[in-house]
Amino acid sequence: MKTCKTCNIEKPLDQFATWRRKDKSIALQPHCKVCIRDKQRAYRAANREHVKEVDKAFRASYRKTEKGNLSYRRTAWKRYGIDPELAELYYLAHDGKCEICKEPGDSLCVDHCHDTKIIRGMLCQKCNTALGLLNDDANRLQTAYNYLIQKGYK
Ligand SMILES: [Zn+2]
Ligand SMILES: [Zn+2]
Repeated sequence: MKTCKTCNIEKPLDQFATWRRKDKSIALQPHCKVCIRDKQRAYRAANREHVKEVDKAFRASYRKTEKGNLSYRRTAWKRYGIDPELAELYYLAHDGKCEICKEPGDSLCVDHCHDTKIIRGMLCQKCNTALGLLNDDANRLQTAYNYLIQKGYK
């Protein structure tokens, strides 16, 4: 049994979470799980905006790690009803780069046919949106291309 420093109630040891000291040894938290949870809740409630920012920053940095990025991709693919295994193969085959602009991106999306869910390729958000806005119309894109060239853009 151990007495919680916050609520002063004596509780069994499994009511206390562990933490790792700097010297890597494991110790029990001085506050019981319930009190820690309450404290976290109160903190989150009182610092809603700040917590949101921190969470966002954490997610962003986690996404930059290989593991985080993979799980981010998988979640996104699943959301679109795309087989994550298959999508990952496409992703790796193209080196994680957009097939049009060749920009690497952690937000690459699988370009797929919305009806059949068949994967067409791997595109970045921008290129994918651009194709969609032009109705995947190759002729229209060709005309758009000619237009830009004509006006002196490359
Ligand atoms: Zn307590
Ligand atoms: Zn692109």
